[in-house]
Amino acid sequence: MNLKSKASFTYLAILLFSTITHLAFAQNYPSKPVTLIVPFAAGGPTDIVARSLGATMTKIMGQTVLVDNKLGAGGTLAASFVANAHPDGYTLLIHHNGMSTAPALYRKLSFNPMTDFEYIGQVVDVPMTLIARKDIPAKNLPELIAYIKQNSSKINLANAGLGAVSHLCGMLFQKAIGVELTTVPFSGTAPALNALLAGQVDILCDQTTQTTQHIKAGTVKMFGVTTKERIKALPDSPTLSEGGLKDFEVIVWHGVYAPKGTPQAVLEKIGNTLRSATKDPSFMARMADLGAESVTDAKQTPEGLKSWLQAEINKWGPVIKSAGVYSD
Ligand code: ASP
Repeated sequence: MNLKSKASFTYLAILLFSTITHLAFAQNYPSKPVTLIVPFAAGGPTDIVARSLGATMTKIMGQTVLVDNKLGAGGTLAASFVANAHPDGYTLLIHHNGMSTAPALYRKLSFNPMTDFEYIGQVVDVPMTLIARKDIPAKNLPELIAYIKQNSSKINLANAGLGAVSHLCGMLFQKAIGVELTTVPFSGTAPALNALLAGQVDILCDQTTQTTQHIKAGTVKMFGVTTKERIKALPDSPTLSEGGLKDFEVIVWHGVYAPKGTPQAVLEKIGNTLRSATKDPSFMARMADLGAESVTDAKQTPEGLKSWLQAEINKWGPVIKSAGVYSD
């Protein structure tokens, strides 16, 4: 064997060895618990979706999917953590629209949503609701808007930080009624809702996955759903559009991501598990009770998530830039 053929033999041997190792790794995956990182506080809407999904994936994979809440900076700390995690399929991220609003909101973003991840698929779509503390003196949206306009310096709006959907929805609401309010950021809308229940903040825009039970129990006042049509989980609640805010629409979509470089065979296993989990009857029933809707099969694919994310970045970037909201 001459030097050249020796080198190509060694190269081929290494390639074969690494392919076999990769295949064996993928075949044994998952051989230990998988961690699903949630960017917001425990008990909140994203966490509720993540824990239901995690429990269903656990049932399917026969290996525990643990939920870990990494809080801060409107979800960007969690996304950055996963972008830098070992790409072995044991650290995954579930995130919502915040993945697409972050590039416009954060001037110094430590990750690129379009290049630093592997895309697994979308999970469910969740509407939002505009709610207020129980004793706010307004019975419907026009009365609420009139009250806010008369008391704008005293009213505050809670959210889960710059990049959270509660922030996005609140920003659109203020723009729609032409009033600027003081905003109070929390590490998720679970603590924001607790503050609202305690009367410490006045208004919150939040997903039905968390608010439905409070709206039904009457512990908060409900002023509208952010969908074009009323939703099955809250048939008596009007849409914000019905209340006079024409075309007000915010739908919270969720994606599951892995660090860039995760082996293809592992990604396929996670993707198949995700698709089976979202079709699991008990997962679907729980989500439907909370106002969430299933997404199409096409959205549950890597391409479906990636192209959706790109479209959302294109849609929200200019809106956010024109509103002049950002963090240094
Ligand atoms: N609802 C939150 C948001 O505004 C996130 C959460 O706490 O799940 O983005």
